[in-house]
Amino acid sequence: MNAPHIDAAVEPERQALAEAENAAGTWREAAQRAAQVAARHADHVDREARFPVEAFDALKSERLLSAMVPASFGGAGLSLAEVAQVCETLAHGCASTAMIYAMHQIQVACIMEHGAHAPWHQQVLAQLVEQQLLLASATSEENIGGSMRTSACAVDVIDGRFSIEKMAPTISYGAHADGILVTARRTAESPASDQVLIVTLLGDLELEKRGTWDSMGMRGTCSEGFRLLAQGHAEQILPTPFAEISDRTMLPVSHTLWASVWTGIAADAVNRAQAFFRAQARAKPGSVPPAGMRLAEAVGLLQMMQARLSVALDAAQAEHDAREAREASNDADAPLSAQLHYASDMNTLKTSISSTALLVVQEVLMICGMAGYKNGTEYSVGRHLRDLHSAPLMINNDRIAQNTASLLLAQRPASPGRA
Ligand SMILES: Cc1cc2nc3c(=O)[nH]c(=O)nc-3n(C[C@H](O)[C@H](O)[C@H](O)COP(=O)(O)OP(=O)(O)OC[C@H]3O[C@@H](n4cnc5c(N)ncnc54)[C@H](O)[C@@H]3O)c2cc1C
Repeated sequence: MNAPHIDAAVEPERQALAEAENAAGTWREAAQRAAQVAARHADHVDREARFPVEAFDALKSERLLSAMVPASFGGAGLSLAEVAQVCETLAHGCASTAMIYAMHQIQVACIMEHGAHAPWHQQVLAQLVEQQLLLASATSEENIGGSMRTSACAVDVIDGRFSIEKMAPTISYGAHADGILVTARRTAESPASDQVLIVTLLGDLELEKRGTWDSMGMRGTCSEGFRLLAQGHAEQILPTPFAEISDRTMLPVSHTLWASVWTGIAADAVNRAQAFFRAQARAKPGSVPPAGMRLAEAVGLLQMMQARLSVALDAAQAEHDAREAREASNDADAPLSAQLHYASDMNTLKTSISSTALLVVQEVLMICGMAGYKNGTEYSVGRHLRDLHSAPLMINNDRIAQNTASLLLAQRPASPGRA
């Protein structure tokens, strides 16, 4: 009599688990298929410094551009950790594709977290799902560089309409995007740090190209400079101040998704080193090739990166859930000490993963030697290394370290046993 009773209770749970596993299988497989397309074209994308059209056609047909959009808007509703896995998978095939995908998801997260209650932005989320729109970002500005929390340009709002002009030194895939999120001062009288974030779409935008993108790496991101002009409805400006968007969403999502891309690039390089090492071992049976020490070192570093990333993704999810719970019960903000700890944790994630990824691929190059140095072999890692040199520069690590130092100064040292 007991068995059917237990089965009946467990069955819905089993069913839910099976459904979740099926869904996970679906997006993981979709990401792998897109990564295979990206890998096939990666060398050509890199050589020609062209947008990875084929990979993005695949991502769109797999409906992965709306992966993070909640199911209530028609998206797949993946978590940040799941989107991070998509980024990592894509990075095995083509770093530029993965970075563009990550940058797009950062913009989606900003709209979702700060615009999901505003009708205009709800409409954009629905449109994004339906048309698989690709969103870019213009936070950096001429004469301001990577100081994201300051703007020189100001948005002008008259009679419910805005206009903006921004000299943007770098807008990745700006010429291929369906929309661009732009930072600006709130008004012409506002201080440089009183910023807003404006969601602009193709019909609102005029982009005047300034210069080309002939870079060391990440060549497929086509990160050209533009004079950006946009006009539209005032409600396109996200209601939350940019300072809050940046702290709550843009920085943590950027740092975790970028870190996933860099981890994926390093992991692909390590796979190549392992294949090289196995081929060496096969050629001389009975002995361990001398590169073994370096391979062990590279694998150890990669595992540390993966563990650090996993902890940061858990922290981001916990912070998100705690904030939602506080908002639902109208509780006060998290204590300042927790906010400072979270901010410095995300900063050190970015600086440590960006520099360790380079160390890993440098080790791989030493393992593979000339076969790794030459382009076009199954062990080539020149592109990996060139792509990764952008990592410490995307918001300069020195700038981030200086900010982290200020945050650490304001924090009490962690007590034993606390991370
Ligand atoms: C592949 C790639 C794609 C990008 N895509 C985009 C994009 O889509 N949209 C966008 O807006 N931006 C983009 N950027 C730009 C990026 O976000 C930064 O703005 C940019 O990398 C910083 O440029 P910078 O090095 O010229 O300037 P800065 O960060 O200003 O650095 C210049 C120099 O000043 C030093 N420096 C300046 N201030 C400090 C400080 N406070 N502390 C310590 N050192 C300091 C730095 O060490 C460095 O030597 C991209 C960058 C890359 C590499």
